[in-house]
Amino acid sequence: MLYGKNNQETPESLSPIFGSEADMTLPMYQLRQDSLAPKDAYQYIKDELIDEGIARENLATFCQTYMEPEAIQLMSETLEKNAIDKTEYPRTAEMENRCVNMIADLWHAPESMDFMGTSTVGSSEACMLGGLALKFSWRNRAEKQGLDINKKKPNLVISSGYQVVWEKFCVYWDVDMRLVPIDEQHGSINVDTVMDYVDDYTIGIIGILGITYTGQYDDIKALDAKVTAYNKTHDLPVYIHVDAASGGLFAPFVEPDLVWDFQLDNVHSISTSGHKYGLVYPGIGWVLWKDKSYLPKELIFEVSYLGGTMPTMAINFSRSASQIIGQYYVFLRNGFNGFYEIHKRTQDVAKYLASEIEKLGYFDIYNDGSHLPIVCYKLKPNANVNWSLYDLTDQFAMKGWQVPTYPLPANLTNVNIQRFVCRADLSMEMAHNLIEDLKLGIEKLNKETNFSNKNQGSYGFTH
Ligand SMILES: *Cc1c(COP(=O)(O)O)cnc(C)c1O
Repeated sequence: MLYGKNNQETPESLSPIFGSEADMTLPMYQLRQDSLAPKDAYQYIKDELIDEGIARENLATFCQTYMEPEAIQLMSETLEKNAIDKTEYPRTAEMENRCVNMIADLWHAPESMDFMGTSTVGSSEACMLGGLALKFSWRNRAEKQGLDINKKKPNLVISSGYQVVWEKFCVYWDVDMRLVPIDEQHGSINVDTVMDYVDDYTIGIIGILGITYTGQYDDIKALDAKVTAYNKTHDLPVYIHVDAASGGLFAPFVEPDLVWDFQLDNVHSISTSGHKYGLVYPGIGWVLWKDKSYLPKELIFEVSYLGGTMPTMAINFSRSASQIIGQYYVFLRNGFNGFYEIHKRTQDVAKYLASEIEKLGYFDIYNDGSHLPIVCYKLKPNANVNWSLYDLTDQFAMKGWQVPTYPLPANLTNVNIQRFVCRADLSMEMAHNLIEDLKLGIEKLNKETNFSNKNQGSYGFTH
């Protein structure tokens, strides 16, 4: 968020907590003159946060809302470590290195090439770095070919189901965003038309695993085949970056035979969020290039490391290394089989939810959890009810659940859907209760006559 004067509220004088003796007039927008005792400051802030709800009931977010006590202990004991300071914290740097190697292995980085990768704050920073590498590599290729690179703005090709980071990337780095519309037949990138959007000024194509709105995967393998055909007949080749924010640490465990990663010739880089199905609290992400030649040297900076230097690539500089350590903990603790079991169980919960929702008869299922454990659905055109999905979101909220309702992106904005993002901490028992709450909510709505007429826009956090 960007904050300013408009965000100021005028408070009544605030009252003391639990009979505490502290002077309790809390100026909210200027520093207090005097200090507070730690316990008072702690209690104030805990109280301030009290109505934020229970994170585990938030089915709107992809981000982790649970970690084991041992992970939390380890992470809180390592908060002071600065991830960029490789000299002071060489073992932490080594853990980052191990995580990059483990992820490269999961994504089938070829033996014959030299992968490179780094941790980031999240997928957004990872996508920015992936996009920058595409832009700089394209420029180097284009200049070599004698293309007038100033004649037109470079462009990036992506489906209209993109996550907002790509719009940011295009605005921040001055690139045209070319959208391949998704439609009723193509819930993900339309591989039959995608190459129509590509020209000499295309820095790259983004494949998405999976789309934030619906959880669907782009068919990266089919996209790769189209790109191979295009590259055979064009002097300026184009390559793929896969935005695997949610699928990158899910698909390798649950669908190991799905071919979407570095096995494909034209996939040069991949990004993911460690804090989504990588099972770490926010914020951590990863971006990898299949070979170091795909990462233009101009983008690499050296930081000092034990008397020498070490290459880095990041938008950020200082940040805590505790998330990196948390990621290494999760990899070490679960191993491949542990990850498989956690994700498979989450998927079972998603499939259970989808089948229960279908049985109710009111909804068409858009995504039933058979890839990512995301369930989304719309009201049947002939559902014959007075209420909308927005009213149902309110019913969920009364029970503490956050379940967003929102329109699909460009070309399908007339379709409103509702979505559950299932995570490891949504047990089958909780899912059962969720369905009971849904049934009660519908029963109540069927009896009601006054509706709020919320029928458009996004309602709830949808990213
Ligand atoms: C969540 C998401 C992002 C942004 O990821 P952060 O880790 O929140 O920065 C980018 N792309 C896709 C497809 C996503 O789902």
